[in-house]
Amino acid sequence: MRKTIIAGNWKMNKTNAEAVEMLTELKGLVAGIENVGIVIGAPFTALSDAVRAVEGSNIEIAAENVYPKESGAYTGEVSPLMLKSIGVKYVILGHSERREYFHESDEFINEKVKAVLAAGMLPILCIGEKLEDRESGRTAEVTETQIRGGLKGLTAEEAAKVVVAYEPVWAIGTGKTATPEMAQETHRQVRDVLVSMFGEAVAEEMTIQYGGSMKPENAVELLAQKDIDGGLIGGASLKAASFAEIVKAGK
Ligand code: PEP
Repeated sequence: MRKTIIAGNWKMNKTNAEAVEMLTELKGLVAGIENVGIVIGAPFTALSDAVRAVEGSNIEIAAENVYPKESGAYTGEVSPLMLKSIGVKYVILGHSERREYFHESDEFINEKVKAVLAAGMLPILCIGEKLEDRESGRTAEVTETQIRGGLKGLTAEEAAKVVVAYEPVWAIGTGKTATPEMAQETHRQVRDVLVSMFGEAVAEEMTIQYGGSMKPENAVELLAQKDIDGGLIGGASLKAASFAEIVKAGK
């Protein structure tokens, strides 16, 4: 049985005090939920405090990026070991904002996926088509290229640790959501690519999250789809109450 994982992505939001306040409230709201993975992605500055704030709870902390080198002359960057050493469990990689604003390629993202796994953490690999791709019927082609590029060279055992987040770029932060049927269709295509890369047994166990304006009002319907195994949530993860409702929809 694959695991449902509801992950928040705070992006460039929240001071440390705000992060601790939200997580303290969230802990109470999701206490006792065991059949859903609960993850919050926080900015680098808040990670240590966030890890401490959720200690002993069912919430795990993700970083939103990493640099794929162990150490060295990479001014301003943060290594996998640094994240691992403070208790970070997941790293969000290849988010469309990083692909767009920081020109991250599938090749570079692939280096990061490998570095995160080598350090003993779990990658959340984001993929997704832009509006022009969808409108020109290229969704399957674009997502396949991103998956094959992002997971290139991984063994089946390594791939089994990766969470894939399918996020149609046109639905991120726009209030537009893919219909559950539309999302399911692409999730199935994504899983088929994973089957061809790593075999049926591994692909069937991999968590594929949906992301793109997921909120309490649409989470139940999206999460009811056969191949949607959770969510990556931006805006609605900033408030404990709305994020907790989505977690409960994943139960
Ligand atoms: C995201 O940033 O990954 C995301 C899905 O954002 P939102 O939920 O705000 O669309």
